[in-house]
Amino acid sequence: MKVHEYQAKEILGKYGVAVQPGEVAESVDAAVASAERMAAEGVALFVVKAQIHAGGRGKGGGVKLAKNVDEVKEKAEAILDMQLVTPQTGPEGQKVRKILVTAAEDIAHEYYIGVTLDRARGQNVIMASTEGGVEIEEVAEATPEKIVKVYVDPAVGLRSFQAVEVASRLGFEGAAFKQTIKFVRALYMAYEESDATIAEINPLVLTNDGRVVALDAKINLDDNAMYRQPDLAEMRDEHEEDPLEIEAGKHDLNYIKLDGNVGCMVNGAGLAMGTMDLIKLAGGEPANFLDVGGTANAQTVEAGFRIILSDPNVEAILVNIFGGIVRCDRVARGIVEAAKNVDITVPLIVRLQGTNAEEGMAILRESDVELESAIILQEAADKVTSALRK
Ligand code: ADP
Ligand code: MG
Repeated sequence: MKVHEYQAKEILGKYGVAVQPGEVAESVDAAVASAERMAAEGVALFVVKAQIHAGGRGKGGGVKLAKNVDEVKEKAEAILDMQLVTPQTGPEGQKVRKILVTAAEDIAHEYYIGVTLDRARGQNVIMASTEGGVEIEEVAEATPEKIVKVYVDPAVGLRSFQAVEVASRLGFEGAAFKQTIKFVRALYMAYEESDATIAEINPLVLTNDGRVVALDAKINLDDNAMYRQPDLAEMRDEHEEDPLEIEAGKHDLNYIKLDGNVGCMVNGAGLAMGTMDLIKLAGGEPANFLDVGGTANAQTVEAGFRIILSDPNVEAILVNIFGGIVRCDRVARGIVEAAKNVDITVPLIVRLQGTNAEEGMAILRESDVELESAIILQEAADKVTSALRK
C-alpha cells in the first residue's frame, strides 16, 4: 500500500525523523490559509507540492516555488485538479486532489537515503548517496560506486556504528554528522515499526544554516501487515488506486490491469504469468493478470468475470486452471454459476487440467455456457487470439 508524501512525513515524524513540516490542503482557499499561517510564523518562501502516489512530480510540474502568499494561491490553482504526468504515472497521468504547502529550504546539498529489504540476502539494506534529488536509479546504473549500502540483520537491528558509517560515508561533519546519525536511526526504526517495504527520502538536504532534513518522503507499506497497523491502514487513498484492483481486493483476487485485449483468469501467479507469455507468443496482448488463487469457487469466478469484463478493451477471455488443490469440477461449476449472473459478451476459451479435469469439462459441455475448450495451453492461446480476429 502506498501513502502520500504528507502521510509519509507524518509517520516519520512520529519516530523522530527530521522532516520538513507543511500543511496539506484540498482547496485553494485552504492552501492560502495555510500559507498565511506559515507567513505569520516567519516563512517567506514557499513550495507548493502535488500529492499523488507517484514520484518525479518536480519534473512533471507538480512542485512549484512561490515567493509570497499570492503566488501560493496562483500555484495552488495551477496544480490542484491538474492531471499530473510524471515519469512514474504513465501517459494518462494522475489527478491532483491534494497539495502540500511547505516552506522552501535554502539547500546546500541534496542527498538520497532509503531503507528496503534485500530479498537475496534476507536483510534490510540502507542505501544512501551524495547524489540525491535526481533519479537514484540512474545513479545506481551509471555510477554504482556512489551508492553506499549498509546491510542490517533484522534479528539484530540497526547497530549504532552502522548509522555512524552511513553518516560518515556521506561526508557529513560536525553538527550535521550528529544529526544524520540520529536521522538514520529514526528512519530505520520508522521503516521497521510501520511494516514498510520501503522508506525513501529523496532529497535529504543539508541546508545552508546547517540542518539535515527530509524534503520529500516515500513510504510503501506491506499489505500483509495492515491487519496490525490499523492507523496506517486508514491512510489508504482509494482515489490513487485502480478501481478494478480495489474491487478485486475485496474478493481476495490478485488482479492487475494491463493494456491488452485478452482477459485471463488463471490460478496461481506462476501459471498466470506463463499464460500471459503464451498469449503474447500467439500474437495477443493480455488485458490483465488475474490469479484466482487456490480457493476458486462460484463467487470468486463470478467476481473475476465481472472485473475482467468491466475493462472495455477485453475482446476475449481465456480461463486456464490447473487443478492441484483446487478441483476442476468445482471451477467448472463456478463458471456455469457465474455465467447465469454475468453476461459474458465475448468469446470464452477454457482450459482445465489436473484434478477432476474430465468431470469439469463434462460439466461445461452439458451446460449452456457458450465456450471453446482446449487441452494444451498453446492450443488455448491460439484459440483465444484467433477469436479476436473473428
Ligand atoms: P519528486 O521527487 O516527486 O519530484 P520532491 O519533493 O523530491 O518531489 O521535489 C523535487 C525537487 O524539488 C527536490 O529535489 C528539491 O530540489 C525541490 N524541493 C522540494 N521541496 C522543496 C522545499 N521545501 N524547498 C526547496 N526545494 C524543494
Ligand atoms: Mg523526491
